[in-house]
Amino acid sequence: MKQVILVKYGEIILKGLNRPIFEDLLVKNIRAALRGMSPDITKAQATTYISLPDEENISEATERLKKVFGIVSITKAYVLPKEIGAICEGTAECLKDELSAATTFKVEAKRSDKKFPLKSPEICREVGGALCMKFPHLAVDVKAPEKIVMVEIRDTNTYVYCDKIKGPGGMPVGSNAKAMLLLSGGIDSPVAGYMAAKRGVALEAVHFFSHPYTSDRAKEKVLELAKIVSGYTGGMRVHVVPFTDIQLEIRKHCPEEQLTIIMRRFMMKISERIAHKNGAIALVTGESIGQVASQTVEALGVTNDAVSLPVFRPVIGMDKDEIVERARMIGTFETSILPYEDCCTIFTPKHPNTKPKLDKIKASEELLDCEALINAAVDGVETIFVS
Ligand code: ATP
Ligand code: MG
Repeated sequence: MKQVILVKYGEIILKGLNRPIFEDLLVKNIRAALRGMSPDITKAQATTYISLPDEENISEATERLKKVFGIVSITKAYVLPKEIGAICEGTAECLKDELSAATTFKVEAKRSDKKFPLKSPEICREVGGALCMKFPHLAVDVKAPEKIVMVEIRDTNTYVYCDKIKGPGGMPVGSNAKAMLLLSGGIDSPVAGYMAAKRGVALEAVHFFSHPYTSDRAKEKVLELAKIVSGYTGGMRVHVVPFTDIQLEIRKHCPEEQLTIIMRRFMMKISERIAHKNGAIALVTGESIGQVASQTVEALGVTNDAVSLPVFRPVIGMDKDEIVERARMIGTFETSILPYEDCCTIFTPKHPNTKPKLDKIKASEELLDCEALINAAVDGVETIFVS
């Protein structure tokens, strides 16, 4: 029996006249996710139908669709004709494995084609009766059934299925402009990137690299993290910025307790330049209030002052254990905890200033040729595409 994948979406339905734009983008992203499988994709009645020439690929396709934002549910459905006898027989045949293993069930019917001669309760009765005859061990339980058999009568076919898989939700990536993610090797920034992408934001990443203080393996680790995040965004460019000279200059000229905050301001300014060059209109970081000395409200304020682009901090209100849970869910945690140093950890002051004052920080920055340092860093960027 022919099988297709039905993809349903959530918030897109609320987009009024713009809905077709969101739907088309979702289809484009689905197509990209199913690259190599030659899917035939059609849309109708708030559902996207995907059929694959090689049905062996259906499980793999389902796995890939779990990472496409905008999808709320994914269903492997069997395609049956629109005639009640054939529906009863076909349902019993297609779902025999699931139903043999269950003890209770119920049928739910949805009739989007109102011309179909039977109403939904009648369809449930007919199909339910036929299944009870075919599987005498099964009992109907309308309150808490083990299996719900869904029968959807749509325009051209009937679709039957048992299990719905939860999609990732959110909005299609690309429906909400592009932002530059400041991606470290830590736990927080990949999660922040995932959360921005979930709201439809396309991403590129910036990574600050302090060769030879940080090793090539630290860079590889960040590229691996970018690759995992790019599983949700459909590929991602990573701009690797040489940062050592800036860090050494700050260490040489500025008060020790200000090192981290001045360094953070440089990161923001350089990221903003790279954003402008690449069409990104916001920055995304993995900062969370109070997590470290440079993330007190005062420090975040001073960091924020360095740029005029909006800065999004999707994990700002999350506790570390909540961020860790999310990192495990999206698959970045194991890579994030690999023990390679980050540029932030190599020049950490013993007593960082947790309540920095903007005028004092700016006065210290006067001791540096900020413009030349930023230009040199931007000129030295190496851009790598990961997918
Ligand atoms: P993370 O777990 O994301 O590394 P963190 O708790 O270690 O965050 P910080 O080191 O203060 O916090 O960094 C705060 C944010 O600054 C990070 O979430 C990230 O967005 C950005 N950042 C820090 N280091 C780098 C880096 N080497 N390259 C790019 N961005 C960075
Ligand atoms: Mg970090």
